[in-house]
Amino acid sequence: GIVILGIFAADTAYKAKRLPYIAETLMGSGFTLGPGGKGSNQAIAAARAGGKVTFISRVGNDPFGEMAIAAYAAAGVKANVMKMEGASTGAAFIFVDEVSGDNAIIVVPGAAGLIGIEDVDANRSEIERAAIFMTQLEQPLEAAMHALSIAKKAGATTIFNPAPAHAIPDSIYGLCDFIVPNEVEAAELVGHAIETDEQARAAADILLKRGARAAIITLGARGALYHTAGHSEFVPAFSAGIAIDTTGAGDAFLGGFATATSEGRAPVEAVRYGCATAAIAVTRPGTAPAMPSRVEIEALLRS
Ligand code: ADP
Repeated sequence: GIVILGIFAADTAYKAKRLPYIAETLMGSGFTLGPGGKGSNQAIAAARAGGKVTFISRVGNDPFGEMAIAAYAAAGVKANVMKMEGASTGAAFIFVDEVSGDNAIIVVPGAAGLIGIEDVDANRSEIERAAIFMTQLEQPLEAAMHALSIAKKAGATTIFNPAPAHAIPDSIYGLCDFIVPNEVEAAELVGHAIETDEQARAAADILLKRGARAAIITLGARGALYHTAGHSEFVPAFSAGIAIDTTGAGDAFLGGFATATSEGRAPVEAVRYGCATAAIAVTRPGTAPAMPSRVEIEALLRS
C-alpha cells in the first residue's frame, strides 16, 4: 500500500470587492469551505485513483477535524489521524479580492504543526510494510526526515514533495527515490530559475548529484520532466477540458503518480498517469473534491 504523512487544513475563502482595512468590517460576496493541506489532498487523490492509502496526521477535536475524517471515509483512505485536545485543526483563512484576484492568507497549522517523531514512531510498522511512502514539508521537517529514513531502510519506494519551498538539509536527498518539486520549489532548491527545458534538466541534475535517485519537476501546463541517470524525458500535459482551477494540480499529480507506482508501472508511465490525474483535476473547482476517479483517469489515458 501507499503510506502518506502530511497535514490537513480546512481552506476557508472569503471574497469581497477589496481586502479589508485594519479595524474595518467589510460585507463580502462569496464564501467557500473545502478540505486542503497537501498531504491530505495527495492521499485523497491517490485513493480516488485506485490506490490503497493510509494517511498519517493530526487534527483537533473540532468540526474541521470531523470534516477531515469524513473526507477520508468517503474517499476510502485509512486515517491514522490523531484527534488531539488542546489544539485546533489546521485552517487557512483566505481573503480574495474579487476584482484583482489578489489574496491575503493566514494559515494556522494547529494540531498538524505538532506532528513530530512520535507520530512517525507510532506508525513505524505501517511505514515499514508500505510499498510506497510519500511526504511533503508542511509538517515539521524532522518528522518527514525520520519517516523517509524508516521507509527507505525498510525497502519502500520513497516519494518526497519538497513543498512549500524552503531550505532542506543535504542529507534528505539520499532518502528520496523520487524528489518531486514544481518549478518554484526546484528553483529554490538549486538557486536558479526554471524557465527553459535546459534549466529544468540542469536543476534535475543537481538534485541527482545531491543524492536523489530520480527527479521529477512538474512544469504546470507544460507537463513534467522525468530525469534519472541515463534517462531524461519531458512528459507533456494532457488536456481534459478548460483549466478553471489549478490549485492542487501538483497534489493530483502526486496522488496519481503514487498509485501508478504502487501498481508497479514504470516511472515514465507513472508520470503520465500523474499528468492525466492532474489534467482532470484542473477542470474542476477546489482541491480534494476535484480529484478524479480511476475510471476517469484511464479514459483520458486511452483517449
Ligand atoms: P503545482 O500545483 O504544485 O504548482 P504544477 O503547476 O507544476 O504543480 O502542476 C502539476 C501537474 O499538473 C503538471 O505536471 C501537469 O501535468 C498538470 N497541470 C498543471 N496545470 C495544468 C493545465 N493547465 N492543464 C493540464 N494539466 C495541468
